Amino acid sequence: MPDRFEILHKDLAGRIGRLNTPHGTIETPGLMPVVNPHQCIIPPKELAHMGAKIIITNSYIIHQDSLLKAHALKAGLHDLLGFDGPIMTDSGAFQLSVYGSVDVQPLEILNFQFAIQSDICVPLDIPTPPDVSADRARSELLETEKRLEEAAAQDRPALLAGPIQGSTYPDLRHRAARFLRDKGFDVYPVGGVVPLMEAYRFKDLVEVVTAAKKGLGSGVPVHLFGAGHPMVFALAAAMGCDLFDSAAYALYARQGRYLTALGTWKLEEMNYLPCSCPVCHAHTQKELMESPQKIKLLAMHNLYISLQEMEQVKQCIHEGSLWELLESRCRSHPRMLDGYKRLCAETEWLERLDTATKSTLFYLSPQSASRPEVIRYSRRIDRFSLCGNVLITDDHEADVSGYDHVLHFKPPFGPYPPELSETYPFNAEVPEELDCAAQEQAAKNTKRLIEANPEANFSFRLRHLPEGIGE
Ligand SMILES: [Zn+2]
Repeated sequence: MPDRFEILHKDLAGRIGRLNTPHGTIETPGLMPVVNPHQCIIPPKELAHMGAKIIITNSYIIHQDSLLKAHALKAGLHDLLGFDGPIMTDSGAFQLSVYGSVDVQPLEILNFQFAIQSDICVPLDIPTPPDVSADRARSELLETEKRLEEAAAQDRPALLAGPIQGSTYPDLRHRAARFLRDKGFDVYPVGGVVPLMEAYRFKDLVEVVTAAKKGLGSGVPVHLFGAGHPMVFALAAAMGCDLFDSAAYALYARQGRYLTALGTWKLEEMNYLPCSCPVCHAHTQKELMESPQKIKLLAMHNLYISLQEMEQVKQCIHEGSLWELLESRCRSHPRMLDGYKRLCAETEWLERLDTATKSTLFYLSPQSASRPEVIRYSRRIDRFSLCGNVLITDDHEADVSGYDHVLHFKPPFGPYPPELSETYPFNAEVPEELDCAAQEQAAKNTKRLIEANPEANFSFRLRHLPEGIGE
């Protein structure tokens, strides 16, 4: 058996990986359309045709329906749904969170998932909602951990997921993640976050996901449970989430909502269809509104645009431009920007994980001054050993006679050796008018360099002298 999960490329905390399952290998980040066995808006065969490589369904619904249950036990889940690729199954935890109880024992529903040949099985955990008391979050987490420990002790014919709970308490999320990692699960879903995403609380989402990720360490696949809106894919992937599930494509279609990577529109309020998927290519807005197949067609568009955004995320991870994608996606809504800024506060963590080789850094906003490359350079600038007369200049044609060292100057980095000017990240494309964050970072780095070299005489020939530097 090959390794369960291999990482091929990295950018920020995101990665392109390969997850091996009993029904084949999928590339991550991967999107799993949710299939309701009672009412498929789009049959799984068509989902495969549209580009879905893996789907997720609810084993509890199948278990509670005697016909579906008998079919799944006899011929397997893949035969029941008509899908040949990997299938993940949920346990009924969602029903537990909505109705308060479920009519099945934890090991019973886990063994049922094994018996119907699910590829990724989820034990019945307790999804604790956001903002509950710390006591409740802690006691439900203890119960979840007890059940997960029991599940991990079973012989497993498939991949076993260990959901990370802990409500909106980052310390509990961190502890839960570490506990589960020690038990050796195959996939780690971050659960109980749907209410955060529904309420656009992306700052809180970043807080709990990064806490869980730090507890897990790198190298294991993470599923962001319930993340189906394409506007969050770049942000979630940048935090190191590898699997996403979309019930959104169907739910939003039922409400007449049209998904895009920058947000949601009401179809009835639109005039144009700004997309080239087969649905939007073949219909005008009016035709789509009036079609008897409206819900299915809208669900198809919603899924196409979601799968497309996932490919966009992968392309950006591959070429090392995920930060640029984040910059543009997170400007689609003020709450997304809050989430992005919260992630910028984790720049030291990102800096340790970010190993992507990139071509050009684009400086696009004050948040770009928090990029891992900038922080990394800032940490290393005091390693330059200088003596004698040092010129720091942004005039590359300047007369440098009489100087022992010449350094070029470019915010947000500040001084750097001229021989590196064509290499990453000093080949950065920066706007002509730089913001305060870039100037401040450059000034900070300049001060560190001066302090580290008290024997040297520094002179400046700069269009804008950073505040607090020079004569
Ligand atoms: Zn479309």
